[in-house]
Amino acid sequence: MNTEFDLLVIGAGSGGIAAANRAASYGANVAIFEPALPGGTCVNAGCVPKKIMWYAAQTGHAIHDAGAYGFNVELKQFAWNELVENRQRYIETLRGHYLRGLEKNRVRYIPAKARFVDEHTLEADGKQYSAPHILIASGGYPDVPPVPGADLGITSDGLFARTQQPGRIVITGAGYVAVEFACLLCALGTEVTLLLRMDRPLRGFDTIVQDSLMQAMQEQGIKVCPNSPVISVARDGEALSVRTAAQTHVGDTLLWAIGRSPNTTDLGLESAGVCLDEQGYVQTDTYENSSIPGVYAVGDVTGKAELTPVAIAAGRRLADRLFGGMSDRHLDYTNIPTVIFSHPPAATVGLTETEARQRYGDQIKVYTGSFLPLEHALPGNTIRSSMKLVVNGPEETIVGCHIVGPGADEMLQGFAVAVRMGARKKDFDDTVAIHPTSAEELVTMR
Ligand code: FAD
Repeated sequence: MNTEFDLLVIGAGSGGIAAANRAASYGANVAIFEPALPGGTCVNAGCVPKKIMWYAAQTGHAIHDAGAYGFNVELKQFAWNELVENRQRYIETLRGHYLRGLEKNRVRYIPAKARFVDEHTLEADGKQYSAPHILIASGGYPDVPPVPGADLGITSDGLFARTQQPGRIVITGAGYVAVEFACLLCALGTEVTLLLRMDRPLRGFDTIVQDSLMQAMQEQGIKVCPNSPVISVARDGEALSVRTAAQTHVGDTLLWAIGRSPNTTDLGLESAGVCLDEQGYVQTDTYENSSIPGVYAVGDVTGKAELTPVAIAAGRRLADRLFGGMSDRHLDYTNIPTVIFSHPPAATVGLTETEARQRYGDQIKVYTGSFLPLEHALPGNTIRSSMKLVVNGPEETIVGCHIVGPGADEMLQGFAVAVRMGARKKDFDDTVAIHPTSAEELVTMR
Protein backbone atom coordinates (compact mmCIF):
# COMPACT_ATOMS: atom_id res chain seq x y z
CA MET A 1 0.00 0.00 0.00
CA ASN A 2 1.27 3.45 -0.96
CA THR A 3 1.86 5.63 2.09
CA GLU A 4 3.71 8.39 0.21
CA PHE A 5 1.46 11.26 -0.84
CA ASP A 6 1.72 14.83 -2.14
CA LEU A 7 -0.73 16.12 0.47
CA LEU A 8 -2.07 14.71 3.73
CA VAL A 9 -5.20 16.34 5.16
CA ILE A 10 -6.22 16.02 8.83
CA GLY A 11 -10.01 16.22 9.07
CA ALA A 12 -12.76 15.62 6.49
CA GLY A 13 -14.83 18.68 7.38
CA SER A 14 -15.59 21.70 5.22
CA GLY A 15 -11.99 22.93 4.88
CA GLY A 16 -10.28 19.55 4.60
CA ILE A 17 -12.60 18.10 1.95
CA ALA A 18 -12.46 21.28 -0.13
CA ALA A 19 -8.66 21.39 -0.07
CA ALA A 20 -8.30 17.66 -0.78
CA ASN A 21 -10.65 17.71 -3.79
CA ARG A 22 -9.12 20.86 -5.25
CA ALA A 23 -5.55 19.51 -4.84
CA ALA A 24 -6.57 16.20 -6.44
CA SER A 25 -8.14 18.07 -9.37
CA TYR A 26 -4.60 19.29 -10.18
CA GLY A 27 -3.33 15.70 -10.14
CA ALA A 28 -1.95 15.67 -6.59
CA ASN A 29 -1.93 12.35 -4.74
CA VAL A 30 -3.98 13.11 -1.61
CA ALA A 31 -5.06 11.25 1.55
CA ILE A 32 -7.58 12.59 4.06
CA PHE A 33 -8.00 11.33 7.65
CA GLU A 34 -11.27 11.39 9.60
CA PRO A 35 -12.07 9.41 12.78
CA ALA A 36 -15.68 10.63 12.98
CA LEU A 37 -18.26 11.35 10.27
CA PRO A 38 -17.36 12.69 6.81
CA GLY A 39 -18.53 16.27 6.35
CA GLY A 40 -17.37 17.51 9.75
CA THR A 41 -19.26 19.96 11.94
CA CYS A 42 -21.23 21.77 9.23
CA VAL A 43 -22.88 18.67 7.80
CA ASN A 44 -23.30 16.62 10.98
CA ALA A 45 -23.66 19.04 13.89
CA GLY A 46 -23.69 22.57 12.55
CA CYS A 47 -25.07 24.53 9.61
CA VAL A 48 -27.10 21.79 7.93
CA PRO A 49 -29.08 20.30 10.85
CA LYS A 50 -29.46 23.81 12.28
CA LYS A 51 -30.84 25.23 9.04
CA ILE A 52 -33.27 22.33 8.67
CA MET A 53 -34.57 23.06 12.16
CA TRP A 54 -34.72 26.74 11.26
CA TYR A 55 -36.97 25.83 8.30
CA ALA A 56 -39.15 23.83 10.69
CA ALA A 57 -39.42 26.90 12.91
CA GLN A 58 -40.24 29.09 9.89
CA THR A 59 -43.02 26.65 9.04
CA GLY A 60 -44.30 27.01 12.61
CA HIS A 61 -44.41 30.80 12.19
CA ALA A 62 -46.18 30.43 8.83
CA ILE A 63 -48.85 28.17 10.38
CA HIS A 64 -49.32 30.72 13.13
CA ASP A 65 -49.84 33.51 10.57
CA ALA A 66 -51.95 31.43 8.15
CA GLY A 67 -55.32 32.45 9.62
CA ALA A 68 -54.74 36.10 8.69
CA TYR A 69 -54.34 35.02 5.07
CA GLY A 70 -57.62 33.13 5.08
CA PHE A 71 -56.44 29.60 5.79
CA ASN A 72 -58.41 27.67 8.35
CA VAL A 73 -55.47 25.75 9.81
CA GLU A 74 -55.39 23.99 13.12
CA LEU A 75 -52.00 22.89 14.46
CA LYS A 76 -52.69 19.49 15.99
CA GLN A 77 -49.19 18.31 16.74
CA PHE A 78 -45.51 18.94 16.10
CA ALA A 79 -43.52 15.68 16.11
CA TRP A 80 -39.89 16.50 16.94
CA ASN A 81 -38.81 12.89 16.43
CA GLU A 82 -40.15 12.90 12.85
CA LEU A 83 -38.27 16.09 12.09
CA VAL A 84 -35.09 14.55 13.52
CA GLU A 85 -35.54 11.30 11.56
CA ASN A 86 -36.12 13.14 8.28
CA ARG A 87 -33.23 15.49 8.96
CA GLN A 88 -30.82 12.64 9.71
CA ARG A 89 -31.91 10.75 6.59
CA TYR A 90 -31.04 13.78 4.49
CA ILE A 91 -27.70 14.24 6.26
CA GLU A 92 -26.86 10.59 5.59
CA THR A 93 -27.30 11.23 1.84
CA LEU A 94 -25.03 14.27 2.12
CA ARG A 95 -22.32 12.19 3.77
CA GLY A 96 -22.55 9.69 0.92
CA HIS A 97 -22.27 12.53 -1.56
CA TYR A 98 -19.04 13.74 0.09
CA LEU A 99 -17.52 10.26 0.14
CA ARG A 100 -18.38 9.66 -3.51
CA GLY A 101 -16.86 13.05 -4.41
CA LEU A 102 -13.58 12.13 -2.73
CA GLU A 103 -13.59 8.72 -4.42
CA LYS A 104 -14.28 10.26 -7.84
CA ASN A 105 -11.32 12.61 -7.34
CA ARG A 106 -9.14 9.66 -6.23
CA VAL A 107 -8.58 11.09 -2.76
CA ARG A 108 -7.77 8.24 -0.34
CA TYR A 109 -10.22 8.40 2.61
CA ILE A 110 -8.72 6.97 5.78
CA PRO A 111 -11.32 6.62 8.57
CA ALA A 112 -8.88 7.10 11.43
CA LYS A 113 -7.47 9.73 13.73
CA ALA A 114 -4.14 11.19 12.58
CA ARG A 115 -1.22 12.38 14.71
CA PHE A 116 2.04 14.02 13.73
CA VAL A 117 5.20 11.94 13.98
CA ASP A 118 7.31 14.70 12.43
CA GLU A 119 6.63 17.62 10.08
CA HIS A 120 6.26 15.35 7.04
CA THR A 121 4.80 12.23 8.65
CA LEU A 122 1.46 11.29 10.22
CA GLU A 123 0.48 8.15 12.07
CA ALA A 124 -3.03 6.69 11.90
CA ASP A 125 -4.20 3.25 13.04
CA GLY A 126 -0.60 2.18 13.59
CA LYS A 127 0.53 3.06 10.02
CA GLN A 128 2.72 5.94 8.93
CA TYR A 129 1.96 8.24 5.99
CA SER A 130 4.28 10.88 4.60
CA ALA A 131 4.02 13.89 2.29
CA PRO A 132 5.85 17.16 1.65
CA HIS A 133 2.61 19.02 2.49
CA ILE A 134 0.34 18.46 5.51
CA LEU A 135 -2.88 20.42 6.12
CA ILE A 136 -4.42 20.67 9.57
CA ALA A 137 -8.20 21.08 9.21
CA SER A 138 -9.27 19.47 12.46
CA GLY A 139 -11.93 22.04 13.42
CA GLY A 140 -13.11 22.53 16.98
CA TYR A 141 -15.45 21.34 19.72
CA PRO A 142 -18.07 23.06 21.91
CA ASP A 143 -16.94 24.40 25.27
CA VAL A 144 -18.42 23.52 28.66
CA PRO A 145 -17.53 25.87 31.55
CA PRO A 146 -15.79 24.62 34.69
CA VAL A 147 -18.75 25.12 37.05
CA PRO A 148 -20.15 22.51 39.47
CA GLY A 149 -22.70 20.28 37.72
CA ALA A 150 -21.71 21.44 34.23
CA ASP A 151 -21.90 17.90 32.85
CA LEU A 152 -25.67 17.89 33.48
CA GLY A 153 -25.93 20.21 30.49
CA ILE A 154 -25.55 19.38 26.81
CA THR A 155 -23.89 21.22 23.92
CA SER A 156 -25.11 21.79 20.37
CA ASP A 157 -23.85 18.26 19.55
CA GLY A 158 -26.14 16.87 22.27
CA LEU A 159 -29.10 18.94 21.17
CA PHE A 160 -28.86 17.63 17.61
CA ALA A 161 -28.73 14.09 19.03
CA ARG A 162 -31.95 14.59 21.03
CA THR A 163 -34.89 12.52 19.79
CA GLN A 164 -37.26 14.17 22.28
CA GLN A 165 -38.11 17.84 22.24
CA PRO A 166 -37.01 19.80 25.29
CA GLY A 167 -40.09 21.12 27.08
CA ARG A 168 -38.31 23.83 29.00
CA ILE A 169 -34.73 24.75 28.13
CA VAL A 170 -32.18 27.04 29.71
CA ILE A 171 -29.64 28.21 27.12
CA THR A 172 -26.39 29.75 28.30
CA GLY A 173 -24.49 31.84 25.78
CA ALA A 174 -24.72 35.03 23.79
CA GLY A 175 -23.23 34.11 20.42
CA TYR A 176 -25.06 33.27 17.23
CA VAL A 177 -25.52 29.59 18.14
CA ALA A 178 -27.26 30.50 21.43
CA VAL A 179 -29.53 33.04 19.74
CA GLU A 180 -30.38 30.72 16.85
CA PHE A 181 -31.32 27.83 19.13
CA ALA A 182 -33.32 30.14 21.40
CA CYS A 183 -35.42 31.39 18.47
CA LEU A 184 -35.95 28.08 16.70
CA LEU A 185 -36.80 26.14 19.87
CA CYS A 186 -39.24 28.85 20.94
CA ALA A 187 -40.95 28.68 17.52
CA LEU A 188 -41.24 24.89 17.87
CA GLY A 189 -43.00 25.23 21.23
CA THR A 190 -40.21 24.87 23.80
CA GLU A 191 -40.19 27.30 26.71
CA VAL A 192 -36.86 29.13 26.46
CA THR A 193 -34.73 31.04 28.96
CA LEU A 194 -31.57 32.62 27.54
CA LEU A 195 -28.83 33.50 30.04
CA LEU A 196 -26.35 36.12 28.79
CA ARG A 197 -23.01 36.66 30.48
CA MET A 198 -23.01 40.40 29.74
CA ASP A 199 -25.78 42.93 29.15
CA ARG A 200 -26.55 42.08 25.50
CA PRO A 201 -26.18 39.21 23.03
CA LEU A 202 -23.99 38.92 19.93
CA ARG A 203 -20.79 40.70 20.96
CA GLY A 204 -18.92 41.80 17.84
CA PHE A 205 -22.10 42.50 15.84
CA ASP A 206 -23.46 45.99 15.18
CA THR A 207 -25.68 47.47 17.91
CA ILE A 208 -28.64 47.49 15.51
CA VAL A 209 -28.36 43.68 15.27
CA GLN A 210 -27.91 43.28 19.03
CA ASP A 211 -30.79 45.56 19.97
CA SER A 212 -33.21 44.37 17.29
CA LEU A 213 -32.71 40.70 18.07
CA MET A 214 -32.85 41.27 21.82
CA GLN A 215 -36.23 42.94 21.37
CA ALA A 216 -37.45 40.37 18.83
CA MET A 217 -36.57 37.50 21.17
CA GLN A 218 -38.42 39.12 24.05
CA GLU A 219 -41.48 39.80 21.88
CA GLN A 220 -41.56 36.12 20.93
CA GLY A 221 -41.70 35.12 24.59
CA ILE A 222 -38.08 34.12 25.13
CA LYS A 223 -37.02 35.02 28.66
CA VAL A 224 -33.73 36.86 28.12
CA CYS A 225 -31.64 37.38 31.28
CA PRO A 226 -28.66 39.76 30.93
CA ASN A 227 -25.63 39.64 33.26
CA SER A 228 -26.39 36.05 34.25
CA PRO A 229 -23.29 33.85 34.15
CA VAL A 230 -24.02 30.38 35.55
CA ILE A 231 -22.50 29.58 38.94
CA SER A 232 -23.66 25.97 39.34
CA VAL A 233 -26.07 23.33 38.06
CA ALA A 234 -27.87 20.69 40.12
CA ARG A 235 -30.40 17.95 39.43
CA ASP A 236 -33.73 18.31 41.19
CA GLY A 237 -35.74 15.19 40.32
CA GLU A 238 -36.57 15.40 36.60
CA ALA A 239 -35.56 19.06 36.47
CA LEU A 240 -32.26 20.93 36.41
CA SER A 241 -31.67 23.96 38.60
CA VAL A 242 -29.34 26.44 36.94
CA ARG A 243 -28.05 28.97 39.43
CA THR A 244 -26.84 32.48 38.61
CA ALA A 245 -25.90 35.22 41.11
CA ALA A 246 -29.41 36.70 40.98
CA GLN A 247 -31.72 33.74 40.44
CA THR A 248 -32.20 30.01 39.95
CA HIS A 249 -33.63 28.97 36.57
CA VAL A 250 -35.37 25.63 36.12
CA GLY A 251 -35.59 23.53 32.98
CA ASP A 252 -35.55 19.94 31.79
CA THR A 253 -32.56 20.72 29.56
CA LEU A 254 -29.56 22.99 29.86
CA LEU A 255 -27.71 23.93 26.68
CA TRP A 256 -24.19 25.29 26.83
CA ALA A 257 -23.61 27.53 23.81
CA ILE A 258 -20.69 29.53 25.16
CA GLY A 259 -18.18 29.11 22.32
CA ARG A 260 -15.83 26.56 20.79
CA SER A 261 -12.18 25.56 21.17
CA PRO A 262 -9.78 24.19 18.54
CA ASN A 263 -9.01 20.48 18.11
CA THR A 264 -5.27 20.81 18.64
CA THR A 265 -4.54 19.09 21.93
CA ASP A 266 -4.18 15.55 20.62
CA LEU A 267 -2.51 16.00 17.23
CA GLY A 268 1.11 15.55 18.29
CA LEU A 269 1.80 19.09 17.08
CA GLU A 270 4.80 19.33 19.38
CA SER A 271 6.46 16.57 17.27
CA ALA A 272 6.25 18.83 14.23
CA GLY A 273 7.03 22.04 16.17
CA VAL A 274 3.82 23.80 15.04
CA CYS A 275 3.15 26.98 17.06
CA LEU A 276 -0.22 27.58 18.69
CA ASP A 277 -1.57 30.83 20.12
CA GLU A 278 -2.63 31.23 23.76
CA GLN A 279 -6.07 29.73 23.10
CA GLY A 280 -4.65 26.73 21.25
CA TYR A 281 -5.41 27.86 17.67
CA VAL A 282 -2.82 27.06 15.00
CA GLN A 283 -0.99 30.27 14.14
CA THR A 284 -1.10 30.91 10.41
CA ASP A 285 -0.02 33.71 8.09
CA THR A 286 -1.91 35.24 5.15
CA TYR A 287 -1.14 32.16 3.03
CA GLU A 288 -2.32 29.67 5.70
CA ASN A 289 1.29 28.62 6.43
CA SER A 290 1.92 27.47 9.99
CA SER A 291 5.20 28.16 11.75
CA ILE A 292 6.67 25.02 10.07
CA PRO A 293 7.33 24.99 6.30
CA GLY A 294 5.10 22.42 4.57
CA VAL A 295 2.51 22.41 7.38
CA TYR A 296 -0.65 24.51 6.87
CA ALA A 297 -3.97 25.06 8.64
CA VAL A 298 -7.42 26.25 7.50
CA GLY A 299 -10.87 26.58 9.03
CA ASP A 300 -11.99 26.68 12.65
CA VAL A 301 -8.65 25.35 13.92
CA THR A 302 -7.08 28.71 12.98
CA GLY A 303 -9.77 30.73 14.83
CA LYS A 304 -9.88 33.27 11.98
CA ALA A 305 -13.55 33.41 10.96
CA GLU A 306 -15.35 30.27 12.03
CA LEU A 307 -17.70 29.75 9.10
CA THR A 308 -18.04 26.96 6.57
CA PRO A 309 -17.55 29.03 3.40
CA VAL A 310 -14.42 30.54 4.95
CA ALA A 311 -12.92 27.09 5.63
CA ILE A 312 -13.82 26.00 2.09
CA ALA A 313 -12.45 29.13 0.44
CA ALA A 314 -9.20 29.00 2.44
CA GLY A 315 -8.75 25.28 1.67
CA ARG A 316 -9.36 25.69 -2.06
CA ARG A 317 -7.08 28.70 -2.35
CA LEU A 318 -4.32 26.86 -0.51
CA ALA A 319 -4.61 23.94 -2.95
CA ASP A 320 -4.58 26.42 -5.88
CA ARG A 321 -1.33 27.86 -4.52
CA LEU A 322 0.40 24.56 -3.74
CA PHE A 323 -0.69 22.51 -6.76
CA GLY A 324 -2.37 24.87 -9.26
CA GLY A 325 0.55 27.18 -9.97
CA MET A 326 -1.16 30.26 -8.44
CA SER A 327 1.68 31.45 -6.25
CA ASP A 328 -0.14 34.43 -4.71
CA ARG A 329 -3.53 32.78 -4.20
CA HIS A 330 -4.90 33.33 -0.69
CA LEU A 331 -8.13 34.28 1.07
CA ASP A 332 -8.89 37.90 1.86
CA TYR A 333 -10.58 37.81 5.27
CA THR A 334 -12.17 41.27 5.00
CA ASN A 335 -15.84 41.82 4.14
CA ILE A 336 -16.95 38.26 4.89
CA PRO A 337 -20.76 38.21 4.91
CA THR A 338 -22.47 36.25 7.63
CA VAL A 339 -26.01 35.44 8.73
CA ILE A 340 -27.56 34.72 12.12
CA PHE A 341 -30.39 32.28 11.45
CA SER A 342 -32.57 33.71 14.18
CA HIS A 343 -36.25 34.64 13.86
CA PRO A 344 -36.14 37.05 12.18
CA PRO A 345 -32.75 36.41 10.58
CA ALA A 346 -29.93 38.97 10.73
CA ALA A 347 -27.29 39.46 8.07
CA THR A 348 -24.14 41.51 8.16
CA VAL A 349 -21.08 42.38 6.10
CA GLY A 350 -18.18 44.74 6.70
CA LEU A 351 -17.55 46.96 9.70
CA THR A 352 -19.88 47.67 12.58
CA GLU A 353 -20.52 51.36 13.25
CA THR A 354 -18.21 51.18 16.27
CA GLU A 355 -15.39 49.55 14.31
CA ALA A 356 -15.79 52.04 11.47
CA ARG A 357 -15.64 55.03 13.85
CA GLN A 358 -12.54 53.58 15.51
CA ARG A 359 -10.88 53.19 12.11
CA TYR A 360 -12.07 56.29 10.24
CA GLY A 361 -13.26 58.70 12.99
CA ASP A 362 -15.60 61.55 12.03
CA GLN A 363 -15.65 60.62 8.35
CA ILE A 364 -18.22 57.96 9.18
CA LYS A 365 -21.93 58.51 8.63
CA VAL A 366 -24.75 56.03 9.18
CA TYR A 367 -28.11 55.61 7.51
CA THR A 368 -30.72 53.60 9.40
CA GLY A 369 -34.22 52.37 8.71
CA SER A 370 -36.88 50.60 10.77
CA PHE A 371 -40.21 49.41 9.42
CA LEU A 372 -42.91 46.79 9.81
CA PRO A 373 -42.45 44.33 6.94
CA LEU A 374 -45.52 43.84 4.77
CA GLU A 375 -45.72 40.13 5.57
CA HIS A 376 -46.35 41.02 9.22
CA ALA A 377 -49.17 43.49 8.49
CA LEU A 378 -52.11 41.09 8.15
CA PRO A 379 -51.13 38.71 10.97
CA GLY A 380 -50.55 41.77 13.18
CA ASN A 381 -46.99 40.80 14.13
CA THR A 382 -45.19 43.66 15.82
CA ILE A 383 -41.57 42.62 15.19
CA ARG A 384 -39.97 45.33 13.08
CA SER A 385 -37.18 45.04 10.50
CA SER A 386 -34.07 47.21 10.88
CA MET A 387 -31.25 48.16 8.56
CA LYS A 388 -28.07 50.17 8.81
CA LEU A 389 -25.57 51.32 6.22
CA VAL A 390 -22.21 52.56 7.50
CA VAL A 391 -20.52 54.85 4.96
CA ASN A 392 -17.09 56.45 4.88
CA GLY A 393 -15.75 59.76 3.56
CA PRO A 394 -17.13 62.28 1.07
CA GLU A 395 -17.61 59.51 -1.50
CA GLU A 396 -19.77 57.66 1.04
CA THR A 397 -18.14 54.31 0.37
CA ILE A 398 -20.18 51.60 2.04
CA VAL A 399 -18.03 49.90 4.68
CA GLY A 400 -20.78 48.10 6.61
CA CYS A 401 -24.26 46.77 5.89
CA HIS A 402 -26.45 45.30 8.66
CA ILE A 403 -29.94 43.89 8.12
CA VAL A 404 -32.43 42.34 10.55
CA GLY A 405 -35.75 41.08 9.24
CA PRO A 406 -37.46 38.45 7.11
CA GLY A 407 -35.43 37.71 3.99
CA ALA A 408 -32.20 39.20 5.38
CA ASP A 409 -30.47 35.83 4.99
CA GLU A 410 -31.05 35.66 1.23
CA MET A 411 -30.80 39.44 0.72
CA LEU A 412 -27.24 39.94 1.87
CA GLN A 413 -25.25 37.87 -0.65
CA GLY A 414 -25.78 40.33 -3.52
CA PHE A 415 -25.19 43.38 -1.32
CA ALA A 416 -21.96 41.74 -0.09
CA VAL A 417 -20.71 41.63 -3.71
CA ALA A 418 -21.46 45.35 -4.03
CA VAL A 419 -19.66 46.18 -0.76
CA ARG A 420 -16.68 44.10 -1.83
CA MET A 421 -16.55 46.00 -5.13
CA GLY A 422 -16.38 49.31 -3.24
CA ALA A 423 -19.98 50.46 -3.83
CA ARG A 424 -20.88 53.97 -2.70
CA LYS A 425 -24.15 55.11 -1.21
CA LYS A 426 -24.84 56.85 -4.55
CA ASP A 427 -24.61 53.49 -6.35
CA PHE A 428 -27.27 52.13 -4.03
CA ASP A 429 -29.41 55.28 -4.54
CA ASP A 430 -29.06 55.01 -8.32
CA THR A 431 -30.28 51.40 -8.31
CA VAL A 432 -34.01 51.17 -8.96
CA ALA A 433 -35.83 49.52 -6.08
CA ILE A 434 -37.75 46.25 -6.32
CA HIS A 435 -41.22 46.81 -4.91
CA PRO A 436 -42.73 45.63 -2.65
CA THR A 437 -39.80 44.04 -0.84
CA SER A 438 -37.84 44.66 2.34
CA ALA A 439 -34.62 44.87 0.31
CA GLU A 440 -35.80 48.08 -1.38
CA GLU A 441 -35.24 49.88 1.92
CA LEU A 442 -31.48 49.55 1.39
CA VAL A 443 -31.55 51.50 -1.89
CA THR A 444 -33.96 54.18 -0.71
CA MET A 445 -32.39 55.26 2.60
CA ARG A 446 -32.12 59.01 3.27
P1 FAD B 1 -14.92 20.82 10.87
O1 FAD B 1 -16.05 20.91 9.91
O2 FAD B 1 -15.25 20.84 12.32
O3 FAD B 1 -14.11 19.50 10.50
C1 FAD B 1 -13.01 19.09 11.27
C2 FAD B 1 -12.92 17.58 11.19
O4 FAD B 1 -11.65 17.18 11.65
C3 FAD B 1 -13.95 16.87 12.04
O5 FAD B 1 -14.74 16.00 11.26
C4 FAD B 1 -13.12 16.11 13.07
O6 FAD B 1 -13.68 14.85 13.41
C5 FAD B 1 -11.81 15.94 12.32
N1 FAD B 1 -10.65 15.70 13.19
C6 FAD B 1 -10.40 16.23 14.40
N2 FAD B 1 -9.23 15.73 14.89
C7 FAD B 1 -8.75 14.88 13.95
C8 FAD B 1 -7.60 14.05 13.87
N3 FAD B 1 -6.69 14.01 14.85
N4 FAD B 1 -7.43 13.30 12.75
C9 FAD B 1 -8.31 13.34 11.73
N5 FAD B 1 -9.43 14.11 11.77
C10 FAD B 1 -9.64 14.87 12.86
N6 FAD B 1 -21.05 28.05 9.66
C11 FAD B 1 -21.69 28.69 8.64
O7 FAD B 1 -21.03 29.14 7.70
N7 FAD B 1 -23.04 28.84 8.63
C12 FAD B 1 -23.83 28.34 9.62
O8 FAD B 1 -25.05 28.50 9.59
C13 FAD B 1 -23.20 27.66 10.69
N8 FAD B 1 -23.93 27.14 11.69
C14 FAD B 1 -23.31 26.45 12.70
C15 FAD B 1 -24.09 25.93 13.72
C16 FAD B 1 -23.50 25.24 14.76
C17 FAD B 1 -24.37 24.67 15.86
C18 FAD B 1 -22.08 25.07 14.77
C19 FAD B 1 -21.41 24.31 15.90
C20 FAD B 1 -21.29 25.59 13.76
C21 FAD B 1 -21.90 26.29 12.72
N9 FAD B 1 -21.15 26.85 11.69
C22 FAD B 1 -21.77 27.53 10.68
C23 FAD B 1 -19.68 26.78 11.70
C24 FAD B 1 -19.18 25.69 10.75
O9 FAD B 1 -19.80 24.47 11.06
C25 FAD B 1 -17.66 25.57 10.86
O10 FAD B 1 -17.08 26.85 10.67
C26 FAD B 1 -17.08 24.63 9.83
O11 FAD B 1 -17.61 23.34 9.97
C27 FAD B 1 -15.54 24.56 9.98
O12 FAD B 1 -15.01 23.64 9.10
P2 FAD B 1 -13.58 22.96 9.43
O13 FAD B 1 -13.23 22.17 8.21
O14 FAD B 1 -12.64 23.97 9.92
O15 FAD B 1 -13.87 22.01 10.67
